[in-house]
Amino acid sequence: MCGILGYTGDRQASSILLAGLERLEYRGYDSAGIAILDNGNIKIAKNKGRLKVLEDRINAGEEVSGTCGIGHTRWATHGEPSDVNAHPLWSDDMAVVAVHNGIVENYREIRAMLAEHGYTFYSQTDTEAAVKLIDYHYKKEKTPLKAITQAIKEIDGSYCFVLLFRDFPGEVWGARKDLPLIAGQGKGESFLASDVSAILHDTRQVYYLDNMEIVQLKKGNVRFFDVEGYATHKEISEVTWDANAAEKGGFEHFMMKEIHEQARAVKDTFGAVYHSGKIDLTEKGLTDEAIRAVSQIYIIACGSAYHAGAVAQYVIEDLAKIPVRIEMASEFRYRDMPMDRNALAVIISQSGETADTLAAMRRAKENGIKTLAVVNVVGSTIAREADSVFYTMAGPEIAVATTKAYSAQLAACYAMAVKFAHVRGVIDDAECTRLIAEIQGLPEKIDEILDEKGSLEELAGRFVNARNAFYLGRNIDYAVAMEGSLKMKEISYLHSEAIAAGEMKHGPISLIERGMLVAGIMTQKGLYQKTASNMLEAKSRGGFLLVVSSRGCEYLKDDADFVFHVPETDEHFAASLAVIPLQLLGYYVAVARKLDVDKPRNLAKSVTVE
Ligand code: GLU
Repeated sequence: MCGILGYTGDRQASSILLAGLERLEYRGYDSAGIAILDNGNIKIAKNKGRLKVLEDRINAGEEVSGTCGIGHTRWATHGEPSDVNAHPLWSDDMAVVAVHNGIVENYREIRAMLAEHGYTFYSQTDTEAAVKLIDYHYKKEKTPLKAITQAIKEIDGSYCFVLLFRDFPGEVWGARKDLPLIAGQGKGESFLASDVSAILHDTRQVYYLDNMEIVQLKKGNVRFFDVEGYATHKEISEVTWDANAAEKGGFEHFMMKEIHEQARAVKDTFGAVYHSGKIDLTEKGLTDEAIRAVSQIYIIACGSAYHAGAVAQYVIEDLAKIPVRIEMASEFRYRDMPMDRNALAVIISQSGETADTLAAMRRAKENGIKTLAVVNVVGSTIAREADSVFYTMAGPEIAVATTKAYSAQLAACYAMAVKFAHVRGVIDDAECTRLIAEIQGLPEKIDEILDEKGSLEELAGRFVNARNAFYLGRNIDYAVAMEGSLKMKEISYLHSEAIAAGEMKHGPISLIERGMLVAGIMTQKGLYQKTASNMLEAKSRGGFLLVVSSRGCEYLKDDADFVFHVPETDEHFAASLAVIPLQLLGYYVAVARKLDVDKPRNLAKSVTVE
């Protein structure tokens, strides 16, 4: 999820790697490390914490001389940030050393297979399983190319690897799937990097690797191979971005980049608990027995995480028929409510450091309630203190307004909902399989929506001078309205309220003026007509109607000012699609108002105050 680099040439690799990693620091990371291949030896330096600590330890690179090496800044997904879990990781005889971004979803199965062949493991990472799998094939096949092609055919997940093979001096190898890896071509030297911004200083001549493509670097010479090991031809491109645009992957803002990373975040989060055709939550403390014993669920969170929890409340209740209460952490922590000892408290937080959420979790624990944290940052305080953790796999999120972490939280909650429903006998095997397929279909549909974003950009222009907006919905659509409304207000400073559609007539309707944006979310078939009526009430008072509805919904097609259709999915999971146009609208209004989208005023990414 974080920074990855490779270098071979005539210069000292360590200083190039350290400088490149420094340029990737903006992404946030928890550990750093490098490995240098020199004279048939691989020297490694790595540690938890800042790059600066690493730099000081190796005397800015002087302690590890050599002209061929790899580097990494880690953003932990499997195993706490620690010196041992920091990359590079190696095979026991140091024949293969690698750095890795992303996730090896089937690392347990790989470890088990390798254990049968005598392999042991020293770290908690998924990466070590992959390195040793490559080593396993390398010992049989004797060539890096065959070892890598064989291994990536067996690895599930999204990843990029950069590798050194001790017996192949001057060579750096790489491979990728669903995460970026680029090769840079300099004069007498070549580079690999996860981001263009890391090497822009040294070269603008780059190759973009395709999925499942393998790259071999030699001094100033770059070669590519397909997954069968055949050489492929690639065109070199010239990067025209400046360093600032490169950091954002060519997008204008981190928020837009992260909006585009949502399909992957959803896929990886669900993929992390989906093994051999089943959702497996045993590592989260949720064995079948534990799931059957849960009498009710409290979902506790703040902000967007609360909104994800609000969606989950409807989904879990409806699918698993368990009572669910969604609680604002900042309120819950000061309330003296009788709690059911057999309840499960699900604590949701992107950073895992949210002060109110942490305090609320401690309160639940004091009451003897089992806690499950849904957090994005491995090793964060909430993750450490909870009884068990379900890590979302959104990767580092930089924009203050969350998008991909919210989407990943939804995916985690869906996995729980379907698992609970199945284990508790509410749905049969066939329905479980169908629902799983629906969740797995979401990433593609998210990307489909993003292809249509231009129409929302045009629409946003209308609201540059707007002062108020309403977001209406019922049930899951109300929960989505809350998140859509928050996206609008937090980055575009346009006052916006989410209203449970049926409540509008109890007061807020008096605020509707000519031209005011009234967004209606309509993905729940049984409620189309009801919400449509409330929207018409708004229209007759001058409201500008924006309808975000599922394809096939015919309601309001003649009355709405603007209709945005999202692809159809099982209604329980429609929030994951309906939220995308709302994120985009908030974004485009903020851009049209020339605001600082990634760092809105008065807000912080991790809210560590009460
Ligand atoms: N999954 C790997 C780990 O936890 C790689 C994390 C990253 O992308 O930085 O070590």
